[in-house]
Amino acid sequence: MVIVMSPGATAVDVAAIVDVVSTAGGEAFVSRGVNRTIIGLVGDVERFAALNLRAMPGVADVMRVSQPYKLVSRENHPERSVIRVGGVPIGPGTVTLIAGPCAVETPRQTLEAAEMAKAAGATLLRGGAFKPRTSPYAFQGLGEEGLRILADVREQTGLPVVTEVVDAHDVPLVASYADMLQVGTRNTQNFALLQAVGRAGKPVMLKRGMSGTIEEWLMSAEYIAQRGNLDIVLCERGIRTFETATRNTLDVSAVPVAQRLSHLPVIVDPSHSGGRRDLVLPLTRAAIAVGADGVIVDVHPHPEQALVDGPQALVDGDLRELAKVMRDFPPLVGRTLAASADDLLIG
Ligand code: PEP
Ligand code: MN
Repeated sequence: MVIVMSPGATAVDVAAIVDVVSTAGGEAFVSRGVNRTIIGLVGDVERFAALNLRAMPGVADVMRVSQPYKLVSRENHPERSVIRVGGVPIGPGTVTLIAGPCAVETPRQTLEAAEMAKAAGATLLRGGAFKPRTSPYAFQGLGEEGLRILADVREQTGLPVVTEVVDAHDVPLVASYADMLQVGTRNTQNFALLQAVGRAGKPVMLKRGMSGTIEEWLMSAEYIAQRGNLDIVLCERGIRTFETATRNTLDVSAVPVAQRLSHLPVIVDPSHSGGRRDLVLPLTRAAIAVGADGVIVDVHPHPEQALVDGPQALVDGDLRELAKVMRDFPPLVGRTLAASADDLLIG
């Protein structure tokens, strides 16, 4: 932390700060310039933050220099991390495609969607059994029955499963079926849930809150990391802005910003960002171009019958194009499409 004194600050003002900081167990290093004095603090930043130094006489500004999140920060961990989900890598060097239905509806719909996902190059299957719905009257997901369907489809296709958990009490149940736990945008600051997934022993995909800053998102990741789980993938899924033409506004700059601040992989959800089928491929290209470590895409065999998010689901006819993007775009940024665990063993 750095304290900038105002030009009129006196020696007594400076001494008072040094005194308060050392009483709080820290050290204060005073550098006197021609016009201003600057005091650098070394010690527990959280304790300094509680001292209300800004209100002390002669203080012009107080600035934090180290980031408030530690475990997920790149400051202490300069190498970018690779997270493995059922053997599939997510991180630098590759682009991972995660695809599947927004919600698990029936065994057949889930299997068909998984086959579509695989045909497009996906190596992980998404699908929600617990759906966080804005309306309490909307389809809430099949619950454990949905988890069983996902586990069956994993058996049939070999695709490891990413699925959302919305309640801290359900974490052990969902973790017993899933290969990766998803925390959705509506729960990014549900701290009890974050702590529970942190203890679950499974990788976690953490969406960005729809109105959350990048710093808030990383603080949420820190909650998970603090419970001993550093297998976290960040997912930018669009934020709320004044624009109404799209469901959310994809914040492409969040990808390189988060990657510079944190060692965790960052992926993009072009389906929930745009909320429109015709935008999924352009936003997928944008995500790969900006350096995303993966994309997570909704697909559905019959979107007109989908119980959730049909308008944004890719259909059969789109898959050839998605497969082409996934093949052609990663090499343009020096990456390859992430292979499945089986392919890695064979290759
Ligand atoms: C989802 O991926 O199914 C979902 C509900 O996404 P989000 O939390 O980003 O709205
Ligand atoms: Mn959805």
